[in-house]
Amino acid sequence: MTSKWVYSFGKDNNEGDATMRNLLGGKGSNLAEMAGLGLPVPPGFTITTEVCGAYYDNGQNYPQELSAQVEEALARVEASVDARFGDADNPLLLSVRSGARVSMPGMMDTVLNLGLNDDTVKGLEAQSGDARFAWDSYRRFVQMYGDVVLGVDHHEFEDVIDTYKRDNNCAQDTDITAEGWKFVVGEYKALVQQTLGKPFPNDPKEQLWGAISAVFGSWMVPRAITYRKINEIPGSWGTAVNVQAMVFGNMGDSCATGVAFTRDPSTGENYFYGEYLINAQGEDVVAGIRTPQSLTQYGREREGCDMPSMEEAMPAVFAQLDDVRSKLESHYRDMQDIEFTVQNDKLFMLQTRAGKRTAKAALKCAVDMVEEGLISQEEALLRVDPQSLDQLLHPTLDPNAVKDVVTRGLPASPGAGCGQVVFTSEAAEVKAHAGESVILCRQETSPEDIAGMHAATGILTSRGGMTSHAAVVARGMGRCCVAGAGDLHIDAKNKLIRVGDREIREGDILTIDGSTGEVMVGLVDTIQPELSGEFGVLMGWADERRRMKVRANAETPLDAKTARDFGAEGIGLCRTEHMFFEPARIQSVREMIFANDEGERRVALDKLLPEQRSDFAGLFEIMSGLPVTVRLLDPPLHEFLPHEQADIDQFAQSAGISGEDVARRLGELHESNPMLGHRGCRLGITYPEIYEMQARAIFEGALEATVRTGAAVQPEIMIPLVGAVKELEILRTKVEAIAEQVFAEKGTTLEYTVGTMIELPRAALTADEIAGAADFFSFGTNDLTQTTLGMSRDDAANFLPVYVDQGVYERDPFSSLDTNGVGRLIELAKVAGRSVNEGLKLGICGEHGGDPASVTFCEHVGLDYVSCSPYRVPIARLAAAQASISLERSEARGAKAKKVA
Ligand code: ADP
Ligand code: MG
Ligand code: MG
Repeated sequence: MTSKWVYSFGKDNNEGDATMRNLLGGKGSNLAEMAGLGLPVPPGFTITTEVCGAYYDNGQNYPQELSAQVEEALARVEASVDARFGDADNPLLLSVRSGARVSMPGMMDTVLNLGLNDDTVKGLEAQSGDARFAWDSYRRFVQMYGDVVLGVDHHEFEDVIDTYKRDNNCAQDTDITAEGWKFVVGEYKALVQQTLGKPFPNDPKEQLWGAISAVFGSWMVPRAITYRKINEIPGSWGTAVNVQAMVFGNMGDSCATGVAFTRDPSTGENYFYGEYLINAQGEDVVAGIRTPQSLTQYGREREGCDMPSMEEAMPAVFAQLDDVRSKLESHYRDMQDIEFTVQNDKLFMLQTRAGKRTAKAALKCAVDMVEEGLISQEEALLRVDPQSLDQLLHPTLDPNAVKDVVTRGLPASPGAGCGQVVFTSEAAEVKAHAGESVILCRQETSPEDIAGMHAATGILTSRGGMTSHAAVVARGMGRCCVAGAGDLHIDAKNKLIRVGDREIREGDILTIDGSTGEVMVGLVDTIQPELSGEFGVLMGWADERRRMKVRANAETPLDAKTARDFGAEGIGLCRTEHMFFEPARIQSVREMIFANDEGERRVALDKLLPEQRSDFAGLFEIMSGLPVTVRLLDPPLHEFLPHEQADIDQFAQSAGISGEDVARRLGELHESNPMLGHRGCRLGITYPEIYEMQARAIFEGALEATVRTGAAVQPEIMIPLVGAVKELEILRTKVEAIAEQVFAEKGTTLEYTVGTMIELPRAALTADEIAGAADFFSFGTNDLTQTTLGMSRDDAANFLPVYVDQGVYERDPFSSLDTNGVGRLIELAKVAGRSVNEGLKLGICGEHGGDPASVTFCEHVGLDYVSCSPYRVPIARLAAAQASISLERSEARGAKAKKVA
């Protein structure tokens, strides 16, 4: 059986549709889908992604049947447009375009006008009656093909044009005549001959196969590999190649080309957003060579531009395009990013795909589309990437801050960023790696800059529009971006930006505001953004839809307030040691540690008691009635000790201890492996009075807060680092004894629970024993990951990136839960724990609580809640809702499959 490697699209032969994305790639499957909808798509064919795989598996050779299948599909295109490839009188010209499963902006280069040579150009000239157009198309082809396929640097081609313009007094490309372009073509070919030592290919078939191979070849270039790595796209997916009949937007003033979004991709506002250029071809719009014009009058006025919009300049075609916009939106039920060309007042659709959008736009589109009846609430919830909410929760510029605005560009990707000026992608990576924030400043960006853009806080360009490479990529990555700030003279070579009479150098601090386009010198204060109405609406839907609760890890009043504002339903982890570090307290903490005996220790602890009590009372008050899990002291004691000699001396003096005694005690407390040393509940076992003081502070604080707020506080006391049930039993008894004492003293009681963190493999393995003494388990996945993998979180940075690179672990196990290893322990502990204690409450409180993939895992295991840092609470709320929905859907599918079976 021979495989089918080639699929036709277009009105006469349409073999694909949008469901075939994996095989035909995004571009190819959507071209077929549009043709199927009856939209005007120039005919063509798609060489499948399977060919890409076969090509690389087979030493870069094509499957045997491919060439015949291409011939056959090409013949169908010829028949459909009534022209012949390579024919001198009636030539068919082609575009060769890449298209992977998911769009990879700018990754693969397109070759247009393929099939032109010294003979066919005459046919094009005769047919169009426009010699200038024909020769301009020809030189574009030689330039694109020379650059993309033959690898001749595009600057060299541009130099040829510049020289020609200088010698012939042409200010702009449009001043160059047919004869001029003819001359340029000759020069181009000479350049190719000279650079490569062989002539530019004249044979259209050779051109076609050259271009096809270039597309497949570009799948493996470093910039494509980098993009895939950042976006976690497997290399095995491959790209498809689309070969399509050309239509011409550069044949005169009744022609145009443009790109559009069916809604504003920055704000989500429901208006037709886009740019077009009259008498232009292909990438002229995004390349930033000519300034594109707005599609609509509304858009034009919004941007304060007086060049006519397409709506005004070409009303009839615009109406058609507007109609396509509605058709596509109601068909795909999502915001689309489209590319089109107008040839002699006739509209052609060249691409559609789901539009990349900012988090703000994603939210607004999702909520609006529910209101418009286009999608359900569930779909809306699934449409918004939880991780992207981060963009909304981060600071914007303080409107009252003093700003030294030096210029303004286009507001290309919202949010504000501040950092050191760098001029190259490499510098951005190096500095970012060293922990600095950087603003990457470029004339314009290109796909080579992907890694630098990812490393940067913000991106600033002096050229290019709202759909330039910089703008599109920055929005996708959630980096703020100001594009096309034309007053900036960015001189990367000399690491200098000139603007007016000012100079900005590498390392200087700039602030950019991607929401207004402002560029400012120096650091500008930022504030927390107001969350939009849509945010509240979507979060409300998420809350209705999720099963798991979401709590926050917080200990300071500020964090606790932020957490509540973001919708936390309690505190899942309050780390008491953070309360010990305040300057006023550290002295007492140190005295406690240096105490020679229990008596001395109790004196120091008595000083700490009122401080802890008021901390807890405050926290309980803020969380008024919501559960608060308080972890008793956890870190090794030496973390609290002075390390600098001056500090040591000062402590010795104020505590009235001799320098030698301090030095001796410091020596005693030294541990070779503090992470596995005298810490966690081991401190409680050896110095019970510490935990007793903390328990007393918790109960007294809780009673205080209950009186003040009127809402019953329910403290959950958490014993850390338990590895054996006995530890928990001993400490639980002590906590309960303190509770009885406090209740007796105050003449009142409250409900509380005692539980443990599961952060040692032994705890997970003996969970059935431990559950007998615990009211709850909280999976401390930071330590559980360290102890399960035997990998120190503080030291992993040196080797973990290499591990992830080589696929030893798919992701950093400290940011996304290692579900195969650590995850299994969690499941095991859950099952064992619940088998003896049905009501055992289960949660997770590591960094992973705010990671959507880990949250999904928690839903599958059936935990009761996740707890994460306050800023990630909304992310976890949405992720939990999505996890509930997808779990329910897969269970429903499972049930259906069972029935069928
Ligand atoms: P990218 O993936 O970078 O968007 P495309 O394959 O979409 O690359 O091609 C870029 C541009 O080239 C398109 O937006 C369109 O303007 C132009 N183009 C592609 N195919 C054709 C065609 N058949 N006729 C006219 N222009 C085309
Ligand atoms: Mg491109
Ligand atoms: Mg495109």
